[in-house]
Amino acid sequence: MSKKNYSPESLMMSYGYTPEWSEGAIKCPIYQTSTFVFKTAEEGKSFFEIAYGIREREAGEKIPGLIYSRLNNPDIEILENRIALWDNADDCASFESGMSAITTVMLEYLAPGDFILASSPSYGGTDHFIKHFLVKMNIHHIEYFPWDSQEDILKRIDAAGARDKVKLIFTETPANPTNDLFDIAMLVDLGKKLSHGEHVVKVAVDNTYMGPLWQRPLEMGADFSIYSATKYIGGHSDVIAGAVCGRQDDMIRIKTLRTFLGNMAGPWTAWLLMRSLETLKIRMEQQARNAAEVAEFLNNHPKVGKMHYLGNLTPADGHAYEIYKRQYTSPGAMLSFQIVGGEAEAFRFLNGLKLCKLAVSLGSTESLAEHPGTMTHAGVDPELKAKIGITPNLVRLSVGVENAADLIDDLNQALALV
Ligand SMILES: *Cc1c(COP(=O)(O)O)cnc(C)c1O
Repeated sequence: MSKKNYSPESLMMSYGYTPEWSEGAIKCPIYQTSTFVFKTAEEGKSFFEIAYGIREREAGEKIPGLIYSRLNNPDIEILENRIALWDNADDCASFESGMSAITTVMLEYLAPGDFILASSPSYGGTDHFIKHFLVKMNIHHIEYFPWDSQEDILKRIDAAGARDKVKLIFTETPANPTNDLFDIAMLVDLGKKLSHGEHVVKVAVDNTYMGPLWQRPLEMGADFSIYSATKYIGGHSDVIAGAVCGRQDDMIRIKTLRTFLGNMAGPWTAWLLMRSLETLKIRMEQQARNAAEVAEFLNNHPKVGKMHYLGNLTPADGHAYEIYKRQYTSPGAMLSFQIVGGEAEAFRFLNGLKLCKLAVSLGSTESLAEHPGTMTHAGVDPELKAKIGITPNLVRLSVGVENAADLIDDLNQALALV
């Protein structure tokens, strides 16, 4: 089926799969196999030539023939073709986790002596990998914050003597857990200013929080749109997975490193994600509708202090509002807010929830609440926590697909316990 005339949500049930491959089965089966039989030795030779880049694919020749499930597998390839549709990307690489997607991009594009520009706050695992693993490889980092302008970042790069050493600009926007926004177009422009001749600076966006529906980094000029597919794409809190979308030449590099790290998704994971993709749009849209109702309730509650919800931004918020209008098509379904009081009050609220579950992770069908200060962001330096607004009374809520009135009832009774 061609992708030309249809929207992604129309293609998630069939794109890239042909029922004749499997006795007419309407659904793509799970190809739970490690290896594939070649018809002839000549065929095996030719598949390897393409897979290992020994010769170019001829016009009309199929994608590298199936060899071994670390290199390729029908479930993985069909899943990747479908995820790529959402980002309008040339290709996608799926991974066994969001962390392996992120770290594979970093390892492919950074070498000893290089610098990575990394936004803060960011996902704890990403932050740890940059600050504790990349440093061991002699790869340095420069942090930037939501309030930094391009000049501020350039000044920091010059102070580090790194004008010609930055190779990767990494951002996570909106930033977890405060919904602070980073300007992708500004970072793409910065990447161009730092590139010259053979020295090309790549821009990678962790699109887990708003993608693939509400933010399209590749269309804004970024090189990579990266996902923890554990979140919205999987959407049912039952699978860990990741994905990277980008341009053909970059994706060949990513997939080549993946072949040697062996951190690709497996067929069962890919099958679960294909099933999830069929309902991605309706789930995300319902979650955003519920979040808007929940936010309206919380905005007016006397025991709720500062709210971080994109739908609350107004022209008075200046640059943040301007980025929001330009970069997103929805306020999303993630919010965080302060409970009036401190950690004890926040805990009383979290312990009192009945319908919403007390758990980390996000983007799934059930609503999830957690305490960033002691859970997802427990490892963040205390000074930085204060600077970026991860206060002891802050709770984060990922809104699910439940009935909005039931969710509000639950939040209301838990707030009453505070
Ligand atoms: C969960 C998450 C990750 C890590 O993904 P895993 O699938 O848990 O490895 C990375 N970035 C963000 C923004 C996340 O929420």
